[in-house]
Amino acid sequence: MASSPSPITTCGSLSLHPVTFGRRMHQAAYDALGLPWLYVPFACESVGLKAALEGMRALSIRGFGVSMPFKIEILPLLDELAPLARTIGAVNTVVNDGGRLCGHNTDAEGAVQALEEEVGSLRDARVLVIGAGGAARAVAFGVHAAGAKLLLCNRTRDKAEALAAELKGAEVVAYEEALRKPPADIIVQATSAGMAGAASLPFDEAAFSERNVVMDIVYKPLHTELIQRAKAAGAKTIHGGRMLLFQAARQFELYTGKTAPLGVMDEVIREAAAG
Ligand code: NAP
Repeated sequence: MASSPSPITTCGSLSLHPVTFGRRMHQAAYDALGLPWLYVPFACESVGLKAALEGMRALSIRGFGVSMPFKIEILPLLDELAPLARTIGAVNTVVNDGGRLCGHNTDAEGAVQALEEEVGSLRDARVLVIGAGGAARAVAFGVHAAGAKLLLCNRTRDKAEALAAELKGAEVVAYEEALRKPPADIIVQATSAGMAGAASLPFDEAAFSERNVVMDIVYKPLHTELIQRAKAAGAKTIHGGRMLLFQAARQFELYTGKTAPLGVMDEVIREAAAG
């Protein structure tokens, strides 16, 4: 008698443009641990977000990543928010426990791990974060919680002011001046500029030197124009794949309850970075 196939657990991502790195990293991790799990990138239009969440419940999708532009829009549609996601005001991960959808944010942890991998502890380091959207908020909260002195700027200054007001001791600096002469050695580009063919931030020719560590959180492409320019100026660089890796490892742990096979997931990013 043929045995019945083992049930497959499905996870995925919800975005306008499904991301292939995410799928490959998560699937490689399931396969490495011998889990009968499948990762599916779901494309979704903004108007269909509520219906998409109903679909996730109806199909018992265990968990899914959420990317721009849904990270903030999704907040009122969830049943519960983990404390960090509530504080940050943005969700990048949803866990489905028996139809109850709980929002998490793993971007903050991912950003801090990616930075600390290069510079060591962030305690008392001066860090400039550029941007004030969903991802920048997560980076800023993470860097602040790690004990860094946080400097913030954004094209729309009001948003940087609002974010700084939530983070004790954070200081807002002028956007144009920060691009001319960054006021910190560690710089995190956390806007969507430079993504998928869009123009990079207009940093001054002489903005970077050997002193700097420049992290660009954009990962489409991995080797952004900013990363290339900073590297050419002698700066240490961290591409967006590092943050993507660490935030995905945390997602894996939330979905499966198991420790993520970081080396296997890292291999996917390293192959993409080399290719
Ligand atoms: P978002 O909420 O739409 O925020 C966009 C931010 O970018 C705002 O601060 C906006 O400034 C700024 N911006 C956009 N175009 C700009 C331009 N031409 N010049 C200057 N500033 C500009 O987007 P998000 O969710 O924060 O995502 C931002 C980027 O982070 C995306 O590329 C995303 O893929 C990436 N990301 C990476 C990771 C990772 O793990 N590596 C994780 C999450 C997100 P205004 O306020 O002035 O409009």
